Amino acid sequence: MHTAIDLAALADPQVREAERILKTCVHCGMCLATCPTYLLLGDERDSPRGRIYLIKGMLESVEPPQDTTVRHIDRCLTCLSCMTTCPSGVNYRHLVDHARSHIETTHRRRPQDRWLRRLLTWVLPSPWRFRLALVGALLARPVAWMLPSMVRGMVRMAPGSLPSPSWSDVPAVHRALGERRMRVALHTGCAQQVLAPHVNEATIRLLTRLGCEVVVSPGAGCCGALGHHLGHLEDARTAARRNIAAWESSGPLDAVVSNASGCGSQLKDYGGLLAEDPAWAERARAVASRVVDVTEVIEPLLEPSQPPSQAPGIACHVPCTLQHSQKLGDLPARLLKRCGFVVKDIAEGHICCGSAGTYNLLQDGLSRRLLERKCGHIAATDADVVATGNIGCMVQIARGTPLPVLHTVELLDWATGGPPLP
Ligand code: SF4
Ligand code: SF4
Repeated sequence: MHTAIDLAALADPQVREAERILKTCVHCGMCLATCPTYLLLGDERDSPRGRIYLIKGMLESVEPPQDTTVRHIDRCLTCLSCMTTCPSGVNYRHLVDHARSHIETTHRRRPQDRWLRRLLTWVLPSPWRFRLALVGALLARPVAWMLPSMVRGMVRMAPGSLPSPSWSDVPAVHRALGERRMRVALHTGCAQQVLAPHVNEATIRLLTRLGCEVVVSPGAGCCGALGHHLGHLEDARTAARRNIAAWESSGPLDAVVSNASGCGSQLKDYGGLLAEDPAWAERARAVASRVVDVTEVIEPLLEPSQPPSQAPGIACHVPCTLQHSQKLGDLPARLLKRCGFVVKDIAEGHICCGSAGTYNLLQDGLSRRLLERKCGHIAATDADVVATGNIGCMVQIARGTPLPVLHTVELLDWATGGPPLP
């Protein structure tokens, strides 16, 4: 693709990188077929190729981005399905990350939108602030009809009850059961601690049973993805530096384990996020090279087994961040089968469930349509349980299906001697 970005703008290494990515697109349009928003809306500007053109126009212009450009980029889920399809290897992820940060620094959103996006970046990464916000949402439910529509949707989306804080999120070293085969740090995340603390509990039980010493490091926290996807680049970098420092001071580690694929995808990209910071670039690359999804660390350690009672049929939803970003699409199903579960394929498995970080809060209509589509395909599998590997997908899918929605590690924990499933 030919570009005409101003030379002064190209002095910025981020813009130079964006230009390099733009030039790799050959406008073939193959990515259109697998883009969820193009599938729903049929508008070229809601396709990867259309957005690439919009980003090119935005970076070539000296004017702030227009509302139309911002609207179509905001509608992107960052599901990265287009990256799986693209034959030219266009790094759409880094391009759209740059576009979002450019929009946040040059475009003036409506005051209520600015306020909401700032609030989400402030509340969600902090477990105690998020917990407080959810308690507030529960109290506000009876008067939700009086609230502005944007806040009303969020209040209605809050869960009906909140689990208590868990032992699994307190900094500690959990010894391996039997011979120690690995020493790993567990990234316990932020929103997951509040919404589904049983996932970290199951992960620690399973990993220690498989011979891992599991460190929950003091100081580690949100991976930064939530802010990053809202264009708040510096917030994401601050989160990355804090996590890197926490894991560097945790003693020798064979791996940093993530059990939320959205976070894992962000952690694996810390090298790119801090590439222009001379004090942190090398350290970021070193930590990122150790990050693994929980399924990757389990894979070589897990012996074949059977669940303690008749195995339920599992509809295995593979999060976009696991299949399109981390390229581990078939791993959860292989592990579940190894433990005797019957795994059923979900049609259109490459299409996002509509969760996508804060997308289900900010793009309610599109998110709901994707959720209905996904849950229709889940119902057609005739499964008893849905398994997935990302807290965002768990919460989203649970809104649309009557089936229990569990994390893959909860099922593997149960099958290998853990407590009964919730
Ligand atoms: S498939 Fe790749 S090269 Fe083709 S239009 Fe899409 S992003 Fe560009
Ligand atoms: S990231 Fe997903 S929604 Fe965004 S352009 Fe690519 S395929 Fe479409």
